[in-house]
Amino acid sequence: MRALIYEGGGKIRYVEDLEVREPEAGEVLVRIAASGICHSDISVVNGTIDWPVPAVLGHEGAGVIEKVGPGATDLAVGDHVALHTLANCGTCGPCESGKPTQCRRSYGNRAQPFSLNGQPVQNFAATSTFVEKTVVKANQAVKIDPSVPLDIACVVGCGVLTGVGSVINRAQVKPGDTAAVFGIGGIGLNVLQGLRLAGASRIVAIDLLPSREQKAREFGATDFIDASLGDTPARIRDIVSDGRPDQGSGVDWSFECVGSTRVLADAMASLGWGGNCVIVGTTAMGTTADIPLTPLAFVDRGVMGARYGASRPHRDIPSYIAQYRQGKLMLDELVTQRYDLADFERAFHDLEAGKLARGVFVL
Ligand SMILES: [Zn+2]
Ligand SMILES: [Zn+2]
Repeated sequence: MRALIYEGGGKIRYVEDLEVREPEAGEVLVRIAASGICHSDISVVNGTIDWPVPAVLGHEGAGVIEKVGPGATDLAVGDHVALHTLANCGTCGPCESGKPTQCRRSYGNRAQPFSLNGQPVQNFAATSTFVEKTVVKANQAVKIDPSVPLDIACVVGCGVLTGVGSVINRAQVKPGDTAAVFGIGGIGLNVLQGLRLAGASRIVAIDLLPSREQKAREFGATDFIDASLGDTPARIRDIVSDGRPDQGSGVDWSFECVGSTRVLADAMASLGWGGNCVIVGTTAMGTTADIPLTPLAFVDRGVMGARYGASRPHRDIPSYIAQYRQGKLMLDELVTQRYDLADFERAFHDLEAGKLARGVFVL
């Protein structure tokens, strides 16, 4: 079958003869219909995320159940599903208290369900979706309404869960709160629409590419700042204080969606008294940052990480799909370009050039 294999050293190869094993107990075989292209896939290729090779990348997929392993009783052949990457156990303390992103067994789930010419090939993020068929734990496949196109539904599996979830589940933004969102790629757009859904009163989008302003406003930004103009925190304070900033003014929430310590410094400096910064972007393992502590301790500012939007996929995915069908959550507008798997070089180039909200491989 067709797939993209990451071979290490920045090299990706398109193949047509990859094989996948049968689903075992508690697993399902999913025919992938479409897969979003996430920046985390590029982070593997550029070395930010260290991953064993060869591996089939992709982790934002939707498709149709093709085979059900023993015991996977909640799913049937033909079900339409969106995949999530947690592969959590479902029975530990965090899982049972609604925090599956903190399940200890949701980390390090590396497996080799694929083979190429008899050699084992790794999966990625417990999923692998740049491939015609993949094997996942049954609880990673969340049944969705079959009327929703799969090349739209796929983006829920990472971009929407991570972005909207960071606002709704992790930060728990309240109506009337103010926020600044740094980095308006696929994740940043979903943070913006999460803030719109949460009823934030002022939503400031910040990006180095002025071309992203229109899309940012479409997704909920009330204001846009071109970061190349400099002194972004002062511009933010000016906006949220209606031109009358004092020493306590700034936003209630800032979201760092780039994975940059420089951007983090700006995101921290933009907080008003009592404000909190949410780190959504991925940095290389071991990255540290200098954070001035006085503004935190004196006036209740804080900083928090957010894994995968603190998502509860079996609750959140159906909820997001329902909100999409009600016209509240924008998914069609996220998918800006579709590609054939063999055209991966153009797809990755377009993503890195900032041309896409979300690019999607249609299989
Ligand atoms: Zn992702
Ligand atoms: Zn667990």
